[in-house]
Amino acid sequence: MIIFGANTRYKTLHKGHFYCPNCMTERPYELKEARPYFTLYFLPVFPIGKPREVVQCAHCQMIFDTTVLSMEKPKRPMSLADILNHLDDLLASGTPVEYLVRDMTAADLEREVALRAIRDVIGDARVECPDCHLSYASDITTCSVCGRSLEHHAD
Ligand SMILES: [Zn+2]
Ligand SMILES: [Zn+2]
Repeated sequence: MIIFGANTRYKTLHKGHFYCPNCMTERPYELKEARPYFTLYFLPVFPIGKPREVVQCAHCQMIFDTTVLSMEKPKRPMSLADILNHLDDLLASGTPVEYLVRDMTAADLEREVALRAIRDVIGDARVECPDCHLSYASDITTCSVCGRSLEHHAD
């Protein structure tokens, strides 16, 4: 009986470091050329199909598409200084007031001070999402949490 089949052979092209989504941290990787081979009695005889480049994590051995190399490490949570420096952008882009207060007080800022910092940027006017009960700067038109459009009342 003749035993034939297919197998994938890997050739290491180069090595480096990347953010492994499986290990969720930075790991060494090997960029490999994967090539399916026709095998006879388990010995590779000739390649079938085109070679493909893959990335293998040297730690967990998981194999990824090469697009994994352009993935970035998830950003660390914003520091209090980041929040305060970008408060106007954050509010203008529709971050709920309550989330900002929560993040600022989590970073040890007093609640009163956090509220005052927000008031300094957008004043006292707010729009509130009727579903989430989150409030936004008064010129925000969509709730960023549930997507509901926020109605503006004249009163
Ligand atoms: Zn890994
Ligand atoms: Zn909402």
